[in-house]
Amino acid sequence: MIRKFISRVFSGKKARPGQHEPAVIPVSTHGITRDRISSGSRRVCETLQENGHKAYVVGGAVRDLLIGAEPKDFDVATDATPEEVRRAFRRSRIIGRRFQIVHVMMGQEQIEVTTFRGQLGEDTKKDEHGRVLHDNVFGSQMEDAARRDFTANALYYDPTTEAIVDYHHGVGDLKARTLRMIGEPRARYREDPVRLLRAVRLAAKLGLSIDPEAKRPIREMAVLLENVPAARLFDEMLKLLTSGHSVKCITQLRDEGLHHGLLPMLDVILEQPMGEKFVMLALANTDDRISRGKGTSPGFLFACLLWHEVLAHWEKMKADGEAKIPALFQAMDTVLDVQGEKLAITRRIAGDIKDIWLLQPRFEQRAGKRPYSLLEQPRFRAGYDFLLLRAESGEVDRELGEWWTRFQSVDGEERAQMLLPEQAGDKKRRRRRKKPSNAGSAPAAE
Ligand code: ATP
Ligand code: MG
Repeated sequence: MIRKFISRVFSGKKARPGQHEPAVIPVSTHGITRDRISSGSRRVCETLQENGHKAYVVGGAVRDLLIGAEPKDFDVATDATPEEVRRAFRRSRIIGRRFQIVHVMMGQEQIEVTTFRGQLGEDTKKDEHGRVLHDNVFGSQMEDAARRDFTANALYYDPTTEAIVDYHHGVGDLKARTLRMIGEPRARYREDPVRLLRAVRLAAKLGLSIDPEAKRPIREMAVLLENVPAARLFDEMLKLLTSGHSVKCITQLRDEGLHHGLLPMLDVILEQPMGEKFVMLALANTDDRISRGKGTSPGFLFACLLWHEVLAHWEKMKADGEAKIPALFQAMDTVLDVQGEKLAITRRIAGDIKDIWLLQPRFEQRAGKRPYSLLEQPRFRAGYDFLLLRAESGEVDRELGEWWTRFQSVDGEERAQMLLPEQAGDKKRRRRRKKPSNAGSAPAAE
């Protein structure tokens, strides 16, 4: 009895959940050999360990390998301070002011190295809704594990021993295809409402089901997203849209009532049959591109998501007597301004979005030299892909899309024969355009 007591005191075991010794799962059980880890992150771990530190590959990479998916990147967690990490690698720099992380370059690879984070204390700064504002204390590996969101994301892989250190039964949960929150889900969502979106995105992307405890509060806590900085929401939305499973993600967001605070216009758009068809086609198209290893541009994606809102404003402006192109400019600005309050679309992406939208009326002009000059536009390809989605969704005539497909594939005489006759008024319009005008060249995005 006394011996038992002493051993408990000296092993430091406590009964609180998450405060116990971790399971150390050998490679013979989990099967992930070190050659599955990127060579850069392996070398980072080895070097830190040679310097007397703990260092593991952590988070999404371990989870993805266990589930048989290709990891996007390999992050490292360590007990070395950012300054110690920086000193250990010549090509490294400290990023961030509050919670510093270190970017280490290994060949072409950039590895993100994070020092273990500590427990949130009584004095942790939070806003009035309970969202954690400052998160800058270092801690032990155990504390670091407890600070992560889902059990499947709190796994530490040691490339030297090839063992996985698992504090929260993450390997078991992954095997059972469950996404389980570490700790009390409501409290964890309040600390950081982005976790609501992460739950949906990771479940959709990895084919996991969200544990009922974590799923239940989502709908009622969705309103907390309104309080998240727009730049963070934008980053998370972009991750979601480019996850390769965007259709599933958006469908699930709607089912959970999460799309309200997120893309204010998506509410409206998804409720209009034409808008929904267009958005879903665009997302399916993006998922398909990603599954074939092709890139997607954020500008194209957001241009799709917001297009029907632009159309609605554009129609209204024209009905109010505004000329076609100035009306389009005003509609674009209105939509991007309203959207920007919730979602910080970066300036560069806003510029790309506008380029794609502004090309659309030009596809209708199929006479004279104009189709030829449209072909030469640097953004022609994106504009044309966008046009095809519009045609497929039934917003414009299929014939218009087919005409442009053919116009690109033929040349010379045949191309010239495709041109439509000049309409009365075309010449007048062209003469007017000779005057300096900014129509067609997007002004700097706000
Ligand atoms: P992805 O496949 O999109 O990269 P990920 O889980 O790796 O998914 P990251 O944003 O790269 O996502 O985060 C890396 C790790 O950091 C996560 O696995 C998790 O352990 C932790 N983490 C990220 N965001 C949060 C959060 N909001 N709350 C708690 N832990 C988080
Ligand atoms: Mg990651």
